[in-house]
Amino acid sequence: DVILAIESTCDETAAAVVTRSGRVLGECIATQENLHEQFGGVVPEIAARAHLERILPVIDTSLRQANVNGRDLHAIAVADRPGLAGSLLVGVVAAKSLAMAWQKPLVAINHLHAHLYACQLSRMSSDDDAATDTAGRTAEPTETTETTSVYPAIGLIVSGGHTTLYLCRDAVDLEYLGGTIDDAAGEAFDKVAAMLSLGFPGGVAVAKWAEKGNAQAYAFPRSKQHDRTYDFSFSGLKTAVRYAIVGPGRQDFSSLQLTDEVKADVCASFEAAVVDVLVAKSRRAVAELGVRRLLVGGGVAANRRLRSQLTEASEQDGFDLVIAPPELCTDNAVMGAIAWKKIDRGEFATLDLDITPGLQRGF
Ligand code: ATP
Ligand code: MG
Ligand code: FE
Repeated sequence: DVILAIESTCDETAAAVVTRSGRVLGECIATQENLHEQFGGVVPEIAARAHLERILPVIDTSLRQANVNGRDLHAIAVADRPGLAGSLLVGVVAAKSLAMAWQKPLVAINHLHAHLYACQLSRMSSDDDAATDTAGRTAEPTETTETTSVYPAIGLIVSGGHTTLYLCRDAVDLEYLGGTIDDAAGEAFDKVAAMLSLGFPGGVAVAKWAEKGNAQAYAFPRSKQHDRTYDFSFSGLKTAVRYAIVGPGRQDFSSLQLTDEVKADVCASFEAAVVDVLVAKSRRAVAELGVRRLLVGGGVAANRRLRSQLTEASEQDGFDLVIAPPELCTDNAVMGAIAWKKIDRGEFATLDLDITPGLQRGF
């Protein structure tokens, strides 16, 4: 049994053909990074148009790679929330059209739940070579923890649009504990990268510079680290970085002449501030809610400093830590395998499925 999963919530157009056990038979991701780079952020109108151009070729490629005909699918799954309205719409309309044409059940998935579900999927290392497809990606992940359930757990999502803690009762039953009241962690990485002219999206570049820098060089704020809530705030940190490199008031970063040492130290100190807060709040949630596991997903979960500090915390405090495999942290359709959980519960969408951009807090 295989399903087709479609992902178009932000600026990645992706499709995957996955089995019930999480095996990936076909996968295709078209990124739009080059289209948005000159603007230093995702432009919604451009993203929607690009999805429209790419969605059918991306779906077609993943089906061909899997050698699966649309009529052989068990269901068609699509992320209907949260995300950019125009982007979501393209994926949802494509999924509904194909479900109608091929007479298949439709499954709506929550993109954030899928980011955490990626924790349950890991690439098989043993036959990496055999499984590497023509696109150079390993196409054989397998579900590792399905038999030994990872729930209940605390779930931390750190992505471009969200920084959220949940109590996860199972893969699709999540209770919001707290989240960012301003910028998301990934967004802060991207904005710092923009100030230092490191390109977009900037998380990977900032992390790379940070490796060569001194994390104690600047005493950046750890907002909300010690308050009683599970909320986060990163806009003060972003402003502190700005003041450190240009001083207050100045808007134009393009003519800045920063030495490599300053760039590396700013990146290292910034990254340390973000990671300290994420680790402190997550371990407190694990302790206070009396669970023994922490799941971590979303683009920033690929960050090496975050991964190693979380690992240290889990060893000190004695909880299980499951971080999504790095290649499944940023947006992809493979994590759409979560749709099987909804299929098992008989939770299908109807053909009048609408998008839910979900901009309100607490989503
Ligand atoms: P959301 O899932 O909230 O809708 P999104 O889908 O745009 O947002 P993701 O694709 O999960 O976000 O993650 C992208 C973000 O991850 C970007 O902000 C990017 O800079 C950041 N990121 C990616 N790799 C790293 C890294 N190694 N270190 C820090 N940040 C990173
Ligand atoms: Mg993206
Ligand atoms: Fe995402």
